[in-house]
Amino acid sequence: MIKTVFLDLDDTIFDFKACERQALAASLTKCAISFNDSDLTAYSEINDAMWKALERGEITRDELRVKRFEVFLSRFSLCLDAAQFADLYMEHLAATNVLIQGAREVLETLSKRYDLYAVTNGYEYTQRGRIRSADIGKYFKDIFISQCIGAVKPNKEFFDHCVRSIPDFDLSSTVLIGDSPTSDISGGNGYGLYTIRYNPEHLPNPEYAIPRSEVASLSELPILLQSL
Ligand SMILES: [Mg+2]
Repeated sequence: MIKTVFLDLDDTIFDFKACERQALAASLTKCAISFNDSDLTAYSEINDAMWKALERGEITRDELRVKRFEVFLSRFSLCLDAAQFADLYMEHLAATNVLIQGAREVLETLSKRYDLYAVTNGYEYTQRGRIRSADIGKYFKDIFISQCIGAVKPNKEFFDHCVRSIPDFDLSSTVLIGDSPTSDISGGNGYGLYTIRYNPEHLPNPEYAIPRSEVASLSELPILLQSL
């Protein structure tokens, strides 16, 4: 029987792509930079690649924060300070609150049956801001953010911190739900957690990160968890 649920936030509960586009569009508008859809998509690709590099330990969190904008802003023939733009973007991102379809309902249902913990790779300022803005903090017993812990998923140190912080933690009655094969599924499998991939687009599972279960919609979770 399941007692504890670790839930990823970005692209599992928050529609991160939508939040990111909103924040980026607002920041560019504020700087009077004209942009189009392909600029927003380009940023998303730059950012994804940098987060993967961070997960592999190739760059630091501080480098990521500014470097992604150095690369992105070079698309525009303007002289802009990447560090200042990064601050502006973080401010806008912290205020976004677009949720994945059905997320609020599933949080409402699951929080009555299980102890929910958010497990997220991200910046404390933006993650806490968005949790507040979406009013979803009340569903979680605790929020574990990589910046506060000093380790990112999929590393063992991240999960060690979560486990140490939870009273009477029991691995065998805990599941981890997330969208990312690298940070969630491979990290959770490695730690001995029962992993569930949220995979709405039915993307292939890499060989190194096969989840124990998979759902295409968050609404499948209550029944799945009851069956475990
Ligand atoms: Mg995610």
